[in-house]
Amino acid sequence: MPVIIKTDKCTGCGTCIDSCPFDAIELKDEKAHINEYCNACMSCLEVCEEGAIVEIKDAQKAVAKDFSDYKDVLIFAEQRDGEVAAVSYELIGAARRLAGELGTSVHALLLGADENAAKELIKWGADKVFLCSDSSLLPFNDDSYSEVLTKVIKDNKPAIVLAGATPVGRSFIPRVAAKLKTGLTADCTLLEIDKETKHLLQVRPAFGGNIMATILCPDYRPQMATVRPRVMKKDVYDESRKGEIVNVRLDGITSRTKVTASVKEESALSVNLHEADVIVAGGRGCGGEKGFKL
Ligand code: SF4
Ligand code: SF4
Repeated sequence: MPVIIKTDKCTGCGTCIDSCPFDAIELKDEKAHINEYCNACMSCLEVCEEGAIVEIKDAQKAVAKDFSDYKDVLIFAEQRDGEVAAVSYELIGAARRLAGELGTSVHALLLGADENAAKELIKWGADKVFLCSDSSLLPFNDDSYSEVLTKVIKDNKPAIVLAGATPVGRSFIPRVAAKLKTGLTADCTLLEIDKETKHLLQVRPAFGGNIMATILCPDYRPQMATVRPRVMKKDVYDESRKGEIVNVRLDGITSRTKVTASVKEESALSVNLHEADVIVAGGRGCGGEKGFKL
């Protein structure tokens, strides 16, 4: 919304309600409230004698938020059957580049895997790995994963949180963003740091891929984004790299749901298309294997 109501100034007189041609202002608890129908027409800006309606850019200046406590780049490291998924290493590569520009560190959260997997994350570029090997985190469960990630974010205040746009990431990362009341950009193809403001520039295709949109989250922290596998580049693997492993306890974290069984999809394919560098696709007209010969 381009305008907000400063509730400390609003007397609840209701004058602004009639000024809005989109029925976007309502009274709640004797204070004006702008709802989702706001069309940014700015008709209401001048009507409030109390000065309670302000344009958002002015409001931001008035209540500039201090994000100096939010520093590092945290990635959610996904594992499958105890093995770290390749997308996690790609996220570390992206996080290293962003952390380099911000002058901060790269942290990773790894759930349901062991210390060897955590060490691999360090060799790929993580400075610190938050590890919880508790067996209750297997198999994946939206409820407990979102609780643990939310707790780690609240305790450590990263400026940026990245996760893979995989079925697991897509399933629970929006819950975390909602719990933290912050923004989330899905399926980013490019992540940059704004040189002036140090905000994360989250670039993703929009409107059916016809334009590339740059999305910012300037007013809330952390800035959260998911990235599809094979989009970001891994950093260099360094066998001798050292980092810190911090054990995370599940104290007080419970799950309202329990996975009782999971069905693994069987595929006739003997290759993993997710890991392929190039995929050549052909239709029925190719007629079979021979039709693909160059
Ligand atoms: S006109 Fe101003 S004081 Fe009156 S309800 Fe609207 S925002 Fe509040
Ligand atoms: S900006 Fe326009 S649409 Fe939005 S609340 Fe004000 S009058 Fe209504």
